[in-house]
Amino acid sequence: MAGDSHVKLFIPGPVEVRPAILSAQAMPMIGHRSSEYANLQARILPKLRPAFGTQGRVFVVTASGSGLQEAAARNCVRERCLCMVNGAFSQRWYEIVLANGKQADAVKEPWGRAVRPERVDERLRTGQYDAVTVVYNETSTGVFSPVPEIAAVVRRYPDVLLLVDAVSCAGGVDIRADEWGLDVCLTSSQKALALPPGLALCSVSERAMQRAASVPQRGWYFDFLEYDKYAAKNHTPATPAVSLMVALDTQLDAIAAEGWAARFARHQRLMQQVHRWVEANGFEFFAEAGYRSPTVTAVQNKRGINVGALNTYLRQRGMVISDGYGPLKGQTFRIAHMGDVTEEEVAQLLEAMTAFLKQS
Ligand code: PLP
Repeated sequence: MAGDSHVKLFIPGPVEVRPAILSAQAMPMIGHRSSEYANLQARILPKLRPAFGTQGRVFVVTASGSGLQEAAARNCVRERCLCMVNGAFSQRWYEIVLANGKQADAVKEPWGRAVRPERVDERLRTGQYDAVTVVYNETSTGVFSPVPEIAAVVRRYPDVLLLVDAVSCAGGVDIRADEWGLDVCLTSSQKALALPPGLALCSVSERAMQRAASVPQRGWYFDFLEYDKYAAKNHTPATPAVSLMVALDTQLDAIAAEGWAARFARHQRLMQQVHRWVEANGFEFFAEAGYRSPTVTAVQNKRGINVGALNTYLRQRGMVISDGYGPLKGQTFRIAHMGDVTEEEVAQLLEAMTAFLKQS
């Protein structure tokens, strides 16, 4: 399948998808109102719960992760939302909340810094907010914010919902939505779950469902109440991406076989492997110490290497990494270490990067 032209992705999404998962999608089509489809969805949902650490509701929506960012805004923000912004995707979520006609305030941290729980507390004390958005893993900066501590703060405010974007870490880190009290925890299929793009997945708390029931104009496509109604019959309101659901079913079995805890531990080892390379090669981290992402490392380009030339070199060897995001292009580069990638594959990438440094 992977011919000469196959370039292995070490970019923070889409990530590499194993051939077995790609070919799972090639099964003959089934009707989405058939019992076969209902059985498929019924199999999937319980197997997905460990990704979020929930015994409660999980929804799989045909959309990318941004769709569920929009859903969280529409279903869960009553009037005014506090948006913690420390990078490009948290900034975009703030804009999505506003674009859905809700009021919102952005509390900004410089890029590279984590969200501070005490700043969340400071703002919630004003009593102005009924929801908070936080990006767990800022893909633009490689920052992993302290969501358990942030959740502990938010839970002191019974009327405030905590909405968490775990797009680039769910499936690679141990998330405990029930234990920590996350009201919505959302992700995309093309990141640490190592599937093709096209599905958005989330856990939704009982509190969030109750909030949705009291919020008018939730729209239709992303209405949690509609989703819940159809989920009772193992269906979805609109036609789902059936082939991707088959791929998800297959991948969840593979993840269970690896073991969720083993998968999370592998992600920690991959992060350490990349960290050792960064330190040994005269670079620095863009993310502040103590808050570095287990799934994507943003490297400060201290040596001023030509990232485009590095990627040309890597592509000739069948691999590619990511440049810095937006304004960080050239100043940083990003190495993704998430999904089904192995330590051997990361070692091959790092060896090639070292060889590039030697010859440039
Ligand atoms: N949030 C984060 C942290 C992301 O990294 C991304 C995409 O990279 C998104 C949201 C948007 O997700 P999608 O592209 O699946 O809509």
